[in-house]
Amino acid sequence: MASGPTVLMRLVASAYSIAQKAGTIVRRVIAEGDLGIVEKTSPTDLQTKADRMAQMSICSSLARKFPKLTIIGEEVRVGRDMDLPSEDVDQELIEDGQWEEILRKPCPAQYSAIKEEDLVVWVDPLDGTKEYTEGLLDNVTVLIGIAYEGKAIAGVINQPYYNYQTSDKQKLREHRKEAKAGPGAALGRTIWGILGLGAFGFQLKEVPAGKHIITTTRSHSNKLVTDCVTAMNPDDVLRVGGAGNKIIQLIEGKASAYVFASPGCKKWDTCAPEVILHAVGGKLTDVHGNALQYDKEVKHMNSAGVLASLRNHDYYASRVPESVKNALVP
Ligand code: AMP
Ligand code: MG
Ligand code: MG
Repeated sequence: MASGPTVLMRLVASAYSIAQKAGTIVRRVIAEGDLGIVEKTSPTDLQTKADRMAQMSICSSLARKFPKLTIIGEEVRVGRDMDLPSEDVDQELIEDGQWEEILRKPCPAQYSAIKEEDLVVWVDPLDGTKEYTEGLLDNVTVLIGIAYEGKAIAGVINQPYYNYQTSDKQKLREHRKEAKAGPGAALGRTIWGILGLGAFGFQLKEVPAGKHIITTTRSHSNKLVTDCVTAMNPDDVLRVGGAGNKIIQLIEGKASAYVFASPGCKKWDTCAPEVILHAVGGKLTDVHGNALQYDKEVKHMNSAGVLASLRNHDYYASRVPESVKNALVP
């Protein structure tokens, strides 16, 4: 008897459409002009109206369709046993679609029997908020990561401002107009992946062999971060916002390693990006080289930092100074 797509494939197909919708919300808030910025734990830890609305959209859309999922989002909590029941969320924020191309792909055999209640979804509705408030819009991503038995196995990254013309930045800040795509290019894109199947929506490129181009934080740096970056013996250092954005740099040949030797980055920052990187043969760990865990009971903070690379992970792990390792307890 023929059976339909598995729970995992249906979830990823929905997450794709839901991340796209969140991307349109992120663009709309800029276009409307009132960012509604709130400081969370510090002046570099911000939340905007876009973070709040995108989280409501993503979590309530997922919860309505997959009521037995565990959903852990960065911002206001929506869904089963949460602050705001998903039925109370404005219908206009709900996305019901699913990306058909994903439904046509085969589910990796090891995930074919997964049940909805076995999955944990980590949601960062807007990664790179600090940069979003500063008009560095191409740093921003929407992240939906899916974990099973503590392991990140599927992920979706929407980049709402992929292809936007950076020369419009000043104009954008002054006039709060919607950013324009370049000639003939669509604004925004969605990347997705599943372990054992692959990653899609981009062209894999590598930094030339032997070059060490390090990408790291631009707004959450400290001495540990810079000590660790220096120890990598870099040919170049890129300081950009967003965990999702930095993983995209690794898979598109702009950087060879993402080094963040500090607490601050959370499970919702790393879950989806880790899957995309792992699906193309890369590796994301803490600075000790240990895998990250994503079960629902795990603490949210990646206390021992993030070390990610497309190739030669052992080289980068071997160069992390002992002083940095001693300061970052998992
Ligand atoms: P960054 O590379 O600075 O853009 O950080 C990647 C992700 O980790 C973003 O979602 C940041 O908000 C988060 N993050 C990193 N460091 C901190 C921190 N010190 N406080 C709050 N969030 C942080
Ligand atoms: Mg984030
Ligand atoms: Mg965020």
